[in-house]
Amino acid sequence: MKKILLKLSGESLGKSSVDLKSLERVVGEIASTSKIVSLAIVIGGGNIWRWRDNKHLASLPRVESDFLGMVATVFNAVVLAAALRKLKIRVKVFSVVAVPIELAEKYSPVTAHKFLEKGGVIILAGGTGKPFVTTDSGAAMRAAELKCDLVVKATNVDGIFDKDPRKSGNAKLLKEVDYKTAIREKLGVMDLKAFRILAKNRIPTRIFNFKKKGLLKKAVECKNVGSLISIK
Ligand code: UDP
Repeated sequence: MKKILLKLSGESLGKSSVDLKSLERVVGEIASTSKIVSLAIVIGGGNIWRWRDNKHLASLPRVESDFLGMVATVFNAVVLAAALRKLKIRVKVFSVVAVPIELAEKYSPVTAHKFLEKGGVIILAGGTGKPFVTTDSGAAMRAAELKCDLVVKATNVDGIFDKDPRKSGNAKLLKEVDYKTAIREKLGVMDLKAFRILAKNRIPTRIFNFKKKGLLKKAVECKNVGSLISIK
């Protein structure tokens, strides 16, 4: 089966913390997709904590604030795993930041890969384990380590646009763009560090709108959804 790295933002689980409706929606999409591909999921923490959303707390050092964001990803990973297990899906949470063993195993690419190969879903928490970056970089690193065929990034827009669609009414969706162009033109949606890692490791990325039902399955099947960032 193809190995897919799914990058999910924390906000796919709720606006602040986790809400049941969003959780059930996400779990349903993952359950049907996990039947056709091997799935490694990197989950963000933005529904709970992001450094950039909390800059006003000037007394809190950046490094500590970033680590709070990484811990937030563990929270999401554990909640998501429990909901998937309820549907009888074999799932294991790995974390690059230290947490009680009851919540997650210490991440090791070898152990994670073995579980993936045996048909389980893995959820990777803690991003990169380092401050000053986001879980997009974590997703790119894990995709490279686990030799994934494709990264799929679930967002709340349809894909990559030539201009910011929130600011410009005539922004055009780009169906396919190569990494060189995406990096040169600073085409948003995913952080540029992540693009550089993925380009170097020759792993394409598909960006798609998670608000639209059923698109995750289509994205992993390489159907023409959203935008593809190709390795040309
Ligand atoms: N973070 C970090 N290093 C990482 C991953 C995450 O410092 O490798 C911190 C950072 O403050 C980030 C927050 O954790 O804003 C939550 O992650 P992210 O913003 O990627 O979550 P998402 O927007 O995908 O939900």
